[in-house]
Amino acid sequence: MAILKKNIWLIFYVLTLTATILFLSASYLKWESTYLKYQTSQENIVELMANATHSLFDTQERLMDILGVTILEDRHHQYDTQSIEKHSNSLLQNPDVIAFGVTTPEGEFIFASSHKDPKQITSLLKQPESRESFMEALSTHGMVFGRTYFSQPLQKWGMPIRKTVRDEEGKPLFVMTTLLRLTSTFDTLMNTIHHRQNLVVSVIRDTDLYQQYNSEGKHDYAKTYQSPFPKKVMDRVYTIIFDTYGLTPQELKRDEPLVSFGYTHEDGVRYLASLKYNKTYKLWIIVHTYLDTIIKDFLQSLALYVTAFIVSGAIFFFLFRLIANAEDKRRSDLIQQATHDQLTTLPNRSYLHQNIFHWAYKNAPPFSLFYVDMDHFKNINDSFGHQFGDYVLVEITKRLRALTPPHSLIIRYGGDEFVLVTRLHEHKELLNFASRLIDALSRPYNVNELHFNIGASVGIAIYPEHGENFDMLLRASDIALYESKKVKNSAHIFASEMQEGFLKNVKIEQALRKAINQHELFMVYQPQIDTQGCVYGVEALLRWNSPTLGNVAPNHFIPLAEASGLMPKIGRFIIETACREIKELHLNLEYAFQISINISVRQFMDPGFLEHLLETVDKTQMHRLAITLEVTENLFIEDMHYILPLLHQIRELGIQISMDDFGTGYSSLSMLRKLPIDELKIDKSFVDEIFSDEASAKMVQNIIAIGKNFGMHILAEGVETKEQKEILTTFGCDRFQGYYFAKPLPKEELLSFLKKQTFTDKS
Ligand code: C2E
Ligand code: CA
Ligand code: CA
Repeated sequence: MAILKKNIWLIFYVLTLTATILFLSASYLKWESTYLKYQTSQENIVELMANATHSLFDTQERLMDILGVTILEDRHHQYDTQSIEKHSNSLLQNPDVIAFGVTTPEGEFIFASSHKDPKQITSLLKQPESRESFMEALSTHGMVFGRTYFSQPLQKWGMPIRKTVRDEEGKPLFVMTTLLRLTSTFDTLMNTIHHRQNLVVSVIRDTDLYQQYNSEGKHDYAKTYQSPFPKKVMDRVYTIIFDTYGLTPQELKRDEPLVSFGYTHEDGVRYLASLKYNKTYKLWIIVHTYLDTIIKDFLQSLALYVTAFIVSGAIFFFLFRLIANAEDKRRSDLIQQATHDQLTTLPNRSYLHQNIFHWAYKNAPPFSLFYVDMDHFKNINDSFGHQFGDYVLVEITKRLRALTPPHSLIIRYGGDEFVLVTRLHEHKELLNFASRLIDALSRPYNVNELHFNIGASVGIAIYPEHGENFDMLLRASDIALYESKKVKNSAHIFASEMQEGFLKNVKIEQALRKAINQHELFMVYQPQIDTQGCVYGVEALLRWNSPTLGNVAPNHFIPLAEASGLMPKIGRFIIETACREIKELHLNLEYAFQISINISVRQFMDPGFLEHLLETVDKTQMHRLAITLEVTENLFIEDMHYILPLLHQIRELGIQISMDDFGTGYSSLSMLRKLPIDELKIDKSFVDEIFSDEASAKMVQNIIAIGKNFGMHILAEGVETKEQKEILTTFGCDRFQGYYFAKPLPKEELLSFLKKQTFTDKS
């Protein structure tokens, strides 16, 4: 079916060709049958004419014989005109006969029905028209034809037939001539013939090729009857017959066959001719039809075929065009569908791939490729539903369209990713355009009385500077975007240094995939101290010692693990290892202290997270109350409908929750009220600057005040000095963690550290 659709016109052409072949074949057959029809009817006519001629002359001959005998019996009145006239009267009654005459063997008239005084008529031997036939009549016993001529006294055209009457010794006594009416004799016959207007019958005397009769003769008697039929033509006819039938003129005359043949006259007129010889009277009976007549007849009958052919062809053509148009439309719709995004109507990724050659070709002018990625778009979908997200995407599209210079391409490249291709290429104008883009895209989106902001990150690559082909260019813009994403709501033009960082990250990511199975990851534990100076817990921190890359900082590889989807797996390793190792220490030391485990956003959002945690707790027989999960503010950007219940559930199970890096992220202090949190960790950056920056000190005080207000513990991390510890204590901080107390320690070192418990308050 698909082939059928594809080749609709091919099918049409095949059908047309078949129809044409059929039409031509039918036409050819029609031609054949038309030609044969003419030939058959013509041959019938020849046959008919031959018989009619023969019987006519036969009758006339007998009549003359009887008359001859009668005249002979009246021998004593040999030249008695009156007696002859009396006897010939019965003959003259015959409507075919117009005159009768008797001459001496010398040609002198004894009697002529047309003349009162026959002596005045010129001797037949002396008239050139009659001389030959007269001589012939004298020399044979049969009937002889004279030339068809015009009888002046009768004012009629007639065909003379002659017969000699002889004595016992065979000596000619007299010659009789009957003048047959030319018109009545043959024309009557002709009238009985169907289609006669299209054919010409002629009866030609073999001896001198004069025409006895020609059905067209009446138009020009003189021309028809006063000169012989051209011998040249007759000779050509013989040749054609010989070529066609292999018959010689002698055979034609001896066997009297009926033959038909095509003949082209000198003047180019073509005929279909049929002829037959009558040897008794030495006459050629020839019937011919103009080929044009046959062709005309053929074309007339063909008209129906042609009309049918054209009409059906036209119907087919329109039908096929209808189908083809529908098919074209469907195909272009499909192409449109395949290359455009339904929601925003923007061209999509495959459109870009198919059309970028219009931009990137050999020696093409420079252009730029903007990779635009909305920051945290996923939250919108998760929090408000897809319909809402769709609306925002349409709004984003509107804003992009309004800003983008003419003759640019705007592509929806993926969920919340857009690619712009523009003619801009100078760094200044690129950054300028990008910042206007970011401004526009980060303006509030208002939906159903809700107003919210999302940011956009932009990566820019320039052709041909950053890539000679589209793939390279896209990659460069993606790398630049990666750089922008670190900052969020910013734009970067690709630079080769980024590539190095990017490639390094790719390398790290690849190594990290193997790290878990090859036991390159392990945990260290950093003690956490209470106001009494006692270790009440430890924070589990991940370490990676890679054989190829050396020690990679968790700050570096954990975001990569997050981005590449490795985090849930690594997260499970962390939970299992921390629980197992700390449980060992609990057993060893015979007392249970807290274990704080960092949970990344992706890890927390993993659907199997809680199940796995509880499973591990059960397996290791770890006490739930001894577990604290450290989450960061970034978590609250995610779907709160999912997070809040989960946090509560965790809380109800007895597991504690600590808010890590507090003060650096998005969440406002007021948000804390809603969250089931046991502990706030003041970020190290505030602790670092507590003496140097007043704002930091104020911030720390605020955090502590609010945290206390909600009944939370406050932990200060990154405490490196005694002074820091002291001022934090004054502010109301009740937990401490930092190098001042201990660095993160491997399991064994932690054991000895705890065993010694040498550490008491240094103050
Ligand atoms: P964080 O959760 O804020 O961890 C505290 C970081 O501060 C640790 O760095 C720790 O070694 C360091 N630190 C503690 N006291 C001091 C101090 O007095 N001075 C200084 N200069 N640094 C101090 P680390 O281990 O490199 O971890 C960095 C970050 O990596 C962590 O920040 C956490 O976000 C992430 N991370 C580390 N381990 C894990 C883990 O097991 N799971 C998850 N999800 N993230 C982890
Ligand atoms: Ca932490
Ligand atoms: Ca922290």
